[in-house]
Amino acid sequence: MLFTAGCNFRCGYCHNPSLISSAQDAFEPFASVRERLVSRRALADGVVITGGEPTIHDVLPSVIEQIHALGFPVKLDTNASMPSVLEQCLPFLDYIAVDIKTSLRRYDHVCRLPLQEISARIERSLELLRTSGKSFEIRITASPDIVDAEAIEEMLPMLVNTHVHLQQFSPAVTLDESYRSLIPYPPSRLETFAARIRTVAAACTVR
Ligand code: SF4
Repeated sequence: MLFTAGCNFRCGYCHNPSLISSAQDAFEPFASVRERLVSRRALADGVVITGGEPTIHDVLPSVIEQIHALGFPVKLDTNASMPSVLEQCLPFLDYIAVDIKTSLRRYDHVCRLPLQEISARIERSLELLRTSGKSFEIRITASPDIVDAEAIEEMLPMLVNTHVHLQQFSPAVTLDESYRSLIPYPPSRLETFAARIRTVAAACTVR
């Protein structure tokens, strides 16, 4: 797994706060990562690029192309906010996991971009994925402040014919310390959300 520095979102429940606040120069440059990938080619089945948010880095498409050229399958984790970068990466990706945070009208809880702009970016990313022919999944973290029955209803159009993973919110390590006192939904509530999602999605698992 390769972890990238920084993120353009500030999800209160983020469980990688050290990554998103780290200085870029605290991270290893890709040239040396590439050397280590070459030396471990026989040991690794593939490479996962996660963050933070990898697509905030303009160099990402070139990095993914180089990893692909080394013969590794590549999976990208993204929040779907940078469709222009995603589009350049797509030819060299084998799998994409997209985090959809909540309904589009509630994205002001996770990022500072104008709602109209972030909505357009996320919809464009999903359109790119749907037309790419690449395998992808949508992940939703059931953070009780932004994912509720109303949000699930509003998210359904984005989830049509997709594979969805509804994952439990964990208060153990969070970016916003106030989230550590937020009580996760009981499993039965997640199953209720999943049942609704399954009415439009190709599949929905709870984890
Ligand atoms: S959860 Fe993901 S998108 Fe949200 S702040 Fe953390 S790294 Fe960024």
